[in-house]
Amino acid sequence: MKKSALLKQYFGYDSFRPLQENIIDKLIAGDDLMVVMPTGGGKSMCYQLPSIMLEGITLVISPLIALMKDQVDALRANGIGAAYFNSSQETHEQQELFEQLASDDLDLLYVAPESIGLLDHQLKSAKISLIAIDEAHCISTWGHDFRPAYTQLSYLKKTYPDTPLVALTATADRATRMDIKKQLGIINAPEYVASFDRPNLRLEVRPGTNRIQQITTFLRSFSNDAGIIYCLSRKTCEGLASKLTASGYNTAAYHAGLSFEERSQVQEDFIKDEVKIVCATIAFGMGIDKSNVRFVIHYNMPKNIEGYYQEIGRAGRDGIDAHALLFHSYADVIQLRRFAEGSGNTKVQLAKLERMKQFAEALTCRRRMLLSYFNEYQDKDCGNCDVCLNPPDFFNATIPAQKALSVVVRAQEQASMNLVIDLLRGAQNSTVLESGLQSIKTFGAGKDISWNNWQQYLVQMINIGLLEIAFHEQNHLKITPQGKAVLFNGRQVELAVVPKKDDQLVKKQRTSQDLPVEVNRQLFQDLKDIRTQLAKAKQLAPYMIFSDASLKDMAARIPLDDNEFADINGVGTHKHDTYGQEFLALLKQHKELRSTAFVYRDQRPKKKSAASSGKKKSKSDTVATTAALFWKDMDVNEIAVHRKLATTTIISHLVKRYESHADVDLSRLVDADILNRILKAYPHIRDKESLKSVFEYFEGKIDYDSLRIGLTWAKNQSVVSN
Ligand code: ADP
Ligand code: ZN
Repeated sequence: MKKSALLKQYFGYDSFRPLQENIIDKLIAGDDLMVVMPTGGGKSMCYQLPSIMLEGITLVISPLIALMKDQVDALRANGIGAAYFNSSQETHEQQELFEQLASDDLDLLYVAPESIGLLDHQLKSAKISLIAIDEAHCISTWGHDFRPAYTQLSYLKKTYPDTPLVALTATADRATRMDIKKQLGIINAPEYVASFDRPNLRLEVRPGTNRIQQITTFLRSFSNDAGIIYCLSRKTCEGLASKLTASGYNTAAYHAGLSFEERSQVQEDFIKDEVKIVCATIAFGMGIDKSNVRFVIHYNMPKNIEGYYQEIGRAGRDGIDAHALLFHSYADVIQLRRFAEGSGNTKVQLAKLERMKQFAEALTCRRRMLLSYFNEYQDKDCGNCDVCLNPPDFFNATIPAQKALSVVVRAQEQASMNLVIDLLRGAQNSTVLESGLQSIKTFGAGKDISWNNWQQYLVQMINIGLLEIAFHEQNHLKITPQGKAVLFNGRQVELAVVPKKDDQLVKKQRTSQDLPVEVNRQLFQDLKDIRTQLAKAKQLAPYMIFSDASLKDMAARIPLDDNEFADINGVGTHKHDTYGQEFLALLKQHKELRSTAFVYRDQRPKKKSAASSGKKKSKSDTVATTAALFWKDMDVNEIAVHRKLATTTIISHLVKRYESHADVDLSRLVDADILNRILKAYPHIRDKESLKSVFEYFEGKIDYDSLRIGLTWAKNQSVVSN
């Protein structure tokens, strides 16, 4: 049977991810390999599919004892013969395993590195067709997570010289990779390093002010979704968890102060969707395969980019949109510096922290910056980070910058950032009065700018090198030579305008997330409920029944028979047989939602036929009907479903309505920054009537629907302002 047919049959997937196919071919051909893929990139498939294709057993070495059961359960849910062996098992369980080994119906066997020796005898009589070493960086002291038990794995290649061996990890630089290969005795193995890009992760950084309030606002658009919030200290972790619980979110705390049992319980509840949000210190989440984590928040800044990337990688493994939100505060930086200084290897740690800080302060595409850290260079901005979505506007800030620099100098470079701001704003508080600095000439010179904005401007001034924080002198601000050029020689300064609303991006995210996949939300929720019931009955984690991506696909396409169901993303033969009836029964009850616009993607009717179904009514009627639904707060997708029309038709109705009555809120359809870009460009666009030439004017970066809406709006605006 062909690889791709097996991929569909056992896993329900239609295509391989980058490199998977290549890797599988090589392993089947008997080669040793070294594989590096980001968390969530799909490493397991690289040995799981060969395990089905090859005769005999694939041995998987994994350090994550607590998760072996989950991994094995997930494989069994796909009809694959899998088992595990580790020290946590009872004797009778091990006995069962030995019988299974002898009986030959096992494709995969997961073993902890320290237990492999105990299996020697049993393995002698079995046929080992492939050996996979997961989390292979643990073998190297160069890596960040060295495990002594891994060093004994060198004997594997000696014992099974003809069996292909693959080492897999999510983090290994060149030196670590060489070390891993050397120790495993596969020194000449080719390396397959996948792109570290995870385009479905929305990257966002916000200033760490009012974090709790920002988080509760953020969570409003994630009701019912699972997420992790990383905190630096146990105390923050617990405080945040109890606040969120009090606000009605199903939250648990997870940190080293809890007993082993308590921690395992939290982990299990999270995997099973019984706890939605976990506030955790960094120890949480290692190796969790839960595919439907929709957001990761860093309440505090991580100490390096490796850690940050690994942690955000736990979101969105199913490939659908997920959000990574990082809060950035100088207090965190100062604390992390202290930690770094108290540890060995201080220089490297400080340098890594510095890179992390630069990332948080970036005014250019964050993903490009992140990927360049992993030596991967992209020539385009990503379009899915806060900087890309909300490019900062710059203004000539020479005067405010001079005011701030002057305060710093007049305070003899003895004032911290907070005091500098108080002085600028002419505050009469005790710190100011005690400093005796209320008599400096520039006291109160920056009253017109809010406290918050001053903070942002000063941070930017530090980033562009006009000011420096003296970490060793109570964090006083110092002026740099560049700063002096601004203050004394009038060198011009540009700073980014501070965005007004913190929650702007979140709002945008939900609309941009929901638009491309036309999903009926209620049905999606109902499908999730069935999944939960089935998971409880089978004692499995819900994501093992079907991923969120599969349920979304069902809700969007509404398959009504076995043929159509089999076509859904993530539906393989085994799951189809086991769960198909339950899901189909529900889907069939919602037959009426399956409008012409939503039938299988490739069969969707062209615009014309979709529009023609609206022809029965007169044009103005149909436009008014759409507008009425829009006023009832239905969004374009919902109206399209309701009216059985294509979304483009609905949009054109709303545009028409706006042209004649200007009473629909077009900003609900298009991001405010896109509208503003179109408005700004409007006077300069020559051929406004030709959508194609406008499209080209924006170099294809704005889609046609948004352009049509934006042009209509801009036209109206310019009429109003003339
Ligand atoms: P990691 O590299 O972190 O070990 P996993 O192997 O757990 O990643 O894969 C992450 C998710 O991607 C899993 O839910 C897995 O089922 C899914 N996946 C793997 N390969 C594919 C594929 N070819 N198409 C769709 N989803 C895939
Ligand atoms: Zn970007």
